[in-house]
Amino acid sequence: SKTVIALVGRPNVGKSTLFNRLTRSRDAIVADYPGLTRDRQYGTGRVGGQPYIVVDTGGLSGEQEGVDPLMAGQVQMAISEADAVLFLVDGRSGLIPADETIAGYIRHFDKPVYLLVNKAEGHDKTMMASDFYQMGLGDPFVISSAHGDNVNEVMEAVLAEV
Ligand code: GDP
Ligand code: MG
Repeated sequence: SKTVIALVGRPNVGKSTLFNRLTRSRDAIVADYPGLTRDRQYGTGRVGGQPYIVVDTGGLSGEQEGVDPLMAGQVQMAISEADAVLFLVDGRSGLIPADETIAGYIRHFDKPVYLLVNKAEGHDKTMMASDFYQMGLGDPFVISSAHGDNVNEVMEAVLAEV
């Protein structure tokens, strides 16, 4: 069956932008895959001939003002049903406490986690990554969801390892 990949991160880090790129669509596909709940935004894509399902966890219920998106059941369920988690942070704002909170939360799930430092176009990759090593999630992928930089490399790594 297809690899299921959840996009997780605080609001505004670029999850939906990455979702659109990974699914090459502005339109949400509400997929009918067995075992997946239908109330999240699902899309499909393919890299190197390998198909995947991607799940955007934001914008549906968890990102209203005053609601902690981390605690939204939406995000918990998305991680639970995923084979891998792409955890996005914003390289331009640097590491903020909300990212640490999310990191701690994701650690409770026994899932492979890939740390993506987004919004990196036009910036030095090493500099952008440096802030995030302390999260203990290994070597970050420094990407641009908007421009596509390094996005294929992420997907190849995920699909090779999952
Ligand atoms: P989400 O809340 O995590 O889903 O974030 P969005 O995908 O809605 O993006 C939030 C804002 O960041 C939007 O204004 C995007 O255009 C912008 N954004 C997303 N990815 C990038 C990127 O790679 N580079 C830059 N410069 N801006 C980005
Ligand atoms: Mg969003």
